[in-house]
Amino acid sequence: MNKYLPTIGIEIHTQLATKSKMFCGCDNDSKTAEPNTNVCPVCLALPGALPVINKGAVELAIKLGHGLNAKIATHTSFDRKNYFYPDSPKGYQITQMDEPIIQQGFVEILIEGEFKKIGVHHAHLEEDAGKSTHPAGASYSLVDFNRAGTPLVEIVSDPDMHTPTEAKRYLQEVYNIATTLGITHGDMEHGNFKFDLNISVSDTDKLGTRTELKNLNSFRNAERALKYEIQRQIDLLEDGEEITQETRGWNDSKGITVSQRGKEHAHDYRYFPEPDLPPLELQVDFITTIQKSVSSVVLPIIVRRELSELGLTSNEQDILIGQAKTRDIFNDTTKILQPKLHKKAVNWLVGDYQAWMTENSEAKSQLTAENLTDLIELVEADSISSKTAKEIFGEVVLGADPNKLIADKGLTQVSDDTELKKIISELITQNPQAVADYQSGNAKAAGFFVGQVMQATKGQANPGKANTLVLKLLEAHTNE
Ligand SMILES: [Zn+2]
Repeated sequence: MNKYLPTIGIEIHTQLATKSKMFCGCDNDSKTAEPNTNVCPVCLALPGALPVINKGAVELAIKLGHGLNAKIATHTSFDRKNYFYPDSPKGYQITQMDEPIIQQGFVEILIEGEFKKIGVHHAHLEEDAGKSTHPAGASYSLVDFNRAGTPLVEIVSDPDMHTPTEAKRYLQEVYNIATTLGITHGDMEHGNFKFDLNISVSDTDKLGTRTELKNLNSFRNAERALKYEIQRQIDLLEDGEEITQETRGWNDSKGITVSQRGKEHAHDYRYFPEPDLPPLELQVDFITTIQKSVSSVVLPIIVRRELSELGLTSNEQDILIGQAKTRDIFNDTTKILQPKLHKKAVNWLVGDYQAWMTENSEAKSQLTAENLTDLIELVEADSISSKTAKEIFGEVVLGADPNKLIADKGLTQVSDDTELKKIISELITQNPQAVADYQSGNAKAAGFFVGQVMQATKGQANPGKANTLVLKLLEAHTNE
């Protein structure tokens, strides 16, 4: 049913990797804390407690703006979004409605070999709520305010995506940007990166009625949920029914979206300027200094462009960009390895290294850019064969220096003419039949000698060199 065009917009909530919370000095890391221990009068909203803007959160927002190709507002302000829910001690959330810190920007994604820009409408600073739990069978609920006041940036995209795959790629790209720049720890299991997906379908120029899929935290599920929801909406329209504007949730085990509640309209929240916080005026110098501090960070899109030029598939690119540690190794390697050998680094990292991590674990890896570079250059200089390189790779991943390793093990490839010539001459004397075969025009006989040379040197002869010398000496022998 191609006549319906889906339109997707995304709101991403990313928790910032600051030391303290958004408006108070409480520790921003509550992973191992007992419930309601990382709290204070400010984040519990006790009467008379006043919020103070976390400078570190503002700095991270500025850095993120750089990654999102966006301008930073020099004048920005906070608002109250009023709602009553037990996990919000204030009865409202401090957020930014009219004057967000990050203005219009864009993110580039790679779709079917083409780069496509997805607009970022804006991104704003706000605080997270506490966490309610509903113990099974209990007649009560529990609330933990440790998370209340956690700094968040909400990134609001333009409705520029039209397929679930585009949406997934956008999410992955923003995640890669945010983690590369150190904005967030990126721990998706712990809610560091959550998103709401707005989706509508239409067979006219006008956008259809949209539904919002709330609170997803997996790229794969975002793609699945969108596929399901697009089909659900198309089926309804085909049956002559209407789409209800509503919030829906994703039921992972059933693989379906389910209605949660009717959509609140913006005025339900009675937004008004936050009276306890003056507008935030940022000096241009301050913004420039923060942006400069991340200007040398290699953003994912730069890596993706380079990988595209190297002819890597999307999957190979995703490995290098999506695995933070592998990506760092690659980035560092490209800084010291000559450009024409970058593809070799890619081959190691998406090939043997992935296999090694499957058998062992990334936590055990001590692979460094220096050691990987040395390994590649040793092969390139014919000091070791590719076969030897593969054999010692496991030890290199565990932190061994390839130069030291081959010296200790005597693995240096034999490229020395005199030594190879000596071996070949002996072989010619010992194998008169093979020499006769060669002389009668059997080219395979030369291959036999090369094989013998490799065996005699335990695979350490340079095969190219061995081949050249074998032919040369056989010719010389024939002409004697
Ligand atoms: Zn606090």
